[in-house]
Amino acid sequence: MDAALPIVRTVPDLRRRLDAWRAEGQRIGLVPTMGALHEGHLSLIAQARARADRVIASLFVNPTQFAPGEDFEAYPRSEAQDAALLAGAGCDLLFAPTPDQIYPPGFSTTITVSGVSAPLEGENRPSHFSGVATVVAKLLIQARPDVAVFGEKDYQQLQVIKRLARDLDLPTRIIGAPTVRAPDGLALSSRNAYLTPPEREIAANLNRVLLNLARVLAQGEPVAAAEAEAAEALMSAGFDVLEYVQARHAEDLSRLGPGPIGAAPARVLAAVRLGKTRLIDNRAV
Ligand code: AMP
Repeated sequence: MDAALPIVRTVPDLRRRLDAWRAEGQRIGLVPTMGALHEGHLSLIAQARARADRVIASLFVNPTQFAPGEDFEAYPRSEAQDAALLAGAGCDLLFAPTPDQIYPPGFSTTITVSGVSAPLEGENRPSHFSGVATVVAKLLIQARPDVAVFGEKDYQQLQVIKRLARDLDLPTRIIGAPTVRAPDGLALSSRNAYLTPPEREIAANLNRVLLNLARVLAQGEPVAAAEAEAAEALMSAGFDVLEYVQARHAEDLSRLGPGPIGAAPARVLAAVRLGKTRLIDNRAV
């Protein structure tokens, strides 16, 4: 069952495989990743399997979504282990492109999704979402999947990609999948590998604070007061830097408050730094 996973590294090789499947009438699902895979990624493979006949994962640590000084060089890389995990999860093919397949010499095109990209992560990592939008648009055009699955873990990214697909008439259906968490509630992330044991204990408070924020907002507490309490709770839990903790409209991520959220579909989102690790998480209200 867990036979070695086929790996392709060029767009022509990818298309040859996919065209053969398409010719047999098979539906194709794509799960884009940056590798260092964990149960969260594998849950996306399962979601894709449920909606497609063939599932491909992509593995590309995309330099353009890292700013200078971020962890591009340090980002964990473990392709052989990732391929074994994907095979065990029922993935059919791994697309691990060489960098020139994504950014050929002279590459000059950047996709920017305005609006939903602007707040939160957009304010703290200014070029991040244009890097994400550009690489995801390329992967969707290269593979032309019927569905592509992205995690709610990166909630703003999911909304950016949905907007991108709508705006550019990409024929792929974009699916959001729930966040997979450790038993103490910490969202699984490739970057959790950076945490020291004491930091790992502090990290679990990010989910706890967000759950509490979602609860008090649902009970009608004014947004401004609830956000301020959550900010204080995160700082006293031991995080070093609070980048944001906010309630936002669940789809366009526009600002809510300062009063009670009322009937708007809402999401609470936060980003913190702990030692050398940056953590993000979010919860539905
Ligand atoms: P990454 O490799 O971090 O770029 O993530 C690849 C995909 O996996 C993205 O769609 C992420 O949102 C998703 N993902 C990351 N962590 C989790 C998690 N804990 N649960 C579900 N999906 C996740």
